Amino acid sequence: MAEVLVYVDHVDGAVRKPTLELLTLARRIGEPVAVALGNGAADTAATLAEHGAAKVLTHDAPEYADYLVVPKVDALQAAYKAVSPAAVLVPSSAEGKEIAARLAVRIDSGIITDAIDLESGDEGPVATQSVFAAAFTTKSRVSKGTPVITVKPNAAAVEAAPAAGAVEALEVSFSEQATGTKVTARTPRESTGRPELTEAAIVVSGGRGVGGAENFPIVEALADSLGAAVGASRAAVDAGWYPHTNQVGQTGKSVSPQLYIATGISGAIQHRAGMQTSKTIVAINKDAEAPIFDLVDYGVVGDLFEVVPQLTEEIEAR
Ligand code: FAD
Repeated sequence: MAEVLVYVDHVDGAVRKPTLELLTLARRIGEPVAVALGNGAADTAATLAEHGAAKVLTHDAPEYADYLVVPKVDALQAAYKAVSPAAVLVPSSAEGKEIAARLAVRIDSGIITDAIDLESGDEGPVATQSVFAAAFTTKSRVSKGTPVITVKPNAAAVEAAPAAGAVEALEVSFSEQATGTKVTARTPRESTGRPELTEAAIVVSGGRGVGGAENFPIVEALADSLGAAVGASRAAVDAGWYPHTNQVGQTGKSVSPQLYIATGISGAIQHRAGMQTSKTIVAINKDAEAPIFDLVDYGVVGDLFEVVPQLTEEIEAR
């Protein structure tokens, strides 16, 4: 069976969920070979094997932490040469997309970014993308070289699929450009204890209808009852009620959770662009004519200050 390289996103050996989702998709098109780099790379092996990695190629060196993406591109290219895969899959984070683009240029291949699904086809993997503010779904395949595909979080379910996961050391020699851009400082954001917005399985968002920063704890309480991330419309962000890092939409983040709950959000096209591919959409809005109701699976016409606390209470009671 053809091998499929999967770039592993991990933090000190803890594999992030989008990588496990990539393994699910990789198994549809071949045999996953994972590439884990940096501090804790070898510690990823057990988790990756549980989710279908036939092999785990690892390499650790200070360059991965000290410099921006080029050392990782060098390593992924080394893995590509060692394996000659049928495809290379990378999580669609900002860093993942840069790594994938640089690799595609180096190996003279086509690239597809932000895939939301992947299937095997007669002439190679076929990727589904959501385009033009999610108004259309396209299917495409790379027609030149080895397909390099970045996949959005929540594109597939995480599945247990025990495999060998044999760990092999990857041989990497860094290019001249590897040490071109040094990281001078890292400032971790204060943790809210909630999942990362773009990776969360559930997102609860608040809009102008929330009425002020002082009311956002209502939205946060519902999110916490569900283990969800908190999002916000641009109107709420522009008003200074919630940080820009939480903005969902065309000029914010694009999310694709299993469940998206919009509270006090009208459903403007620019907001929809960032959440329309969510699997199930629920809206709570007091205006029955709000455009958001055109795309929901479940809609509640009501005052969010009554509905949201009741919903939170009910969920917490279960
Ligand atoms: P509104 O449109 O004002 O809607 C508020 C809703 O709350 C209404 O439907 C109202 O009925 C409801 N409501 C009020 N009170 C209650 C209550 N007590 N209970 C229940 N419901 C209530 N927007 C984004 O979100 N993300 C983006 O990334 C983004 N990018 C943009 C880029 C450009 C170039 C432009 C031009 C615009 C962009 N916008 C974006 C803005 C977008 O057009 C809308 O203005 C914005 O999404 C509106 O936010 P909202 O739905 O919170 O507010």
